[in-house]
Amino acid sequence: LVGADGAIRPTIFAEMSALAARTGAINLGQGFPDEDGPAEVLEAARSAIAHGVNQYPPGRGIPDLLSAIVEHQERFYGLHLDPARDVLVTAGATEALAAALLALIDGPDDEVVVFEPYYDSYAAVVALAGARLVTVPLRRPEFQPDLDELRHAVTDRTRVILVNDPHNPTGAVFSAEVRSEVVRLAERHDVVILTDEVYEHLVFDTPHVPIATLPGAWERTLTISSGGKTFSTTGWKIGWISGPADLVDAVLAVKQFLTYVNGSAFQPAIATGLRLGDDFFHGIADTLRAKRDLLGEGLRAAGFDVSTPAGSYFTVADAAPLGAVDAADFCRALPERAGVVAIPLTAFVTPGRRSEYATLVRFAACKRVEVLEEAASRLSNAR
Ligand code: GLN
Repeated sequence: LVGADGAIRPTIFAEMSALAARTGAINLGQGFPDEDGPAEVLEAARSAIAHGVNQYPPGRGIPDLLSAIVEHQERFYGLHLDPARDVLVTAGATEALAAALLALIDGPDDEVVVFEPYYDSYAAVVALAGARLVTVPLRRPEFQPDLDELRHAVTDRTRVILVNDPHNPTGAVFSAEVRSEVVRLAERHDVVILTDEVYEHLVFDTPHVPIATLPGAWERTLTISSGGKTFSTTGWKIGWISGPADLVDAVLAVKQFLTYVNGSAFQPAIATGLRLGDDFFHGIADTLRAKRDLLGEGLRAAGFDVSTPAGSYFTVADAAPLGAVDAADFCRALPERAGVVAIPLTAFVTPGRRSEYATLVRFAACKRVEVLEEAASRLSNAR
């Protein structure tokens, strides 16, 4: 089951969070906030439970959440979706990814093209689905792909181009050229674009642009998001996938047999969140931008070479100036040395490509200011 590339193994997040618990280190590894999200959202879940929303919800999701997702796509992106047909609620973005890949992949000759480094579940699910992962490296300092390498990767064997924008682990937001090229290649080779946009509201410079809004994209794009990051409810696992009804139906066909349904009382709560005012959505990006800056300053002061992210929870820092040769060893030693847990970027790359990212480390900025300040002060011992 482990597969030739070792994709199915204990996740790096479990290993690093256990290390943080064992050593008492500050956990800047796994990306989850250490504060609750909006009170209205939390209260809506309590109220749903109190009002008996505790049994299996409908297979596609509770109609009020489906409507709220559609309203949100219209309000922020001008997309017009049919709540009854174009949307499916899933157990987090994770299940949406798994169900979509299982639905879209036919056999061992099918290929999924993905940028590398990538969120770890991508390789694992492609392996579970029995397809081949074809990776296109993201190049420093901006972590954008080379367009020729992207063109070369997409062929008639490609079934899916899987994009994650804003990007975990690098914090990159892809350029307009990259997005358009993805759509052009998908049209030319008749492939589905699967886009993971869980950090859609956590962008720092320019408004988020869903690939589904590009000309020619809608009819071949499945867009994934989740309430976890936007509302600081990562444990609730309310995600969704939207796109043309026939593609969403294929994902639903698989989802039925993965979880059937999920999170009844959390669904109306996420609907409440999606309907919060613009101030809320701007506020979370502003707050996280300030945390990104604080973390970046701390890392620079400690001697790291820091890439400033355009979005997401994460900042990538090169530990080479501190003498590191292998970020995995560096991260294993960091809790003892400096009382901080972080994640080596090599956890997100295929074995053949590790050397390109060998000394890079991912730090999560989604923590309270005082925690980031304490981490910054401890990191002065990272050398
Ligand atoms: N998405 C978060 C991260 O990248 C946590 C994911 C997880 O724990 N599976 O750190």
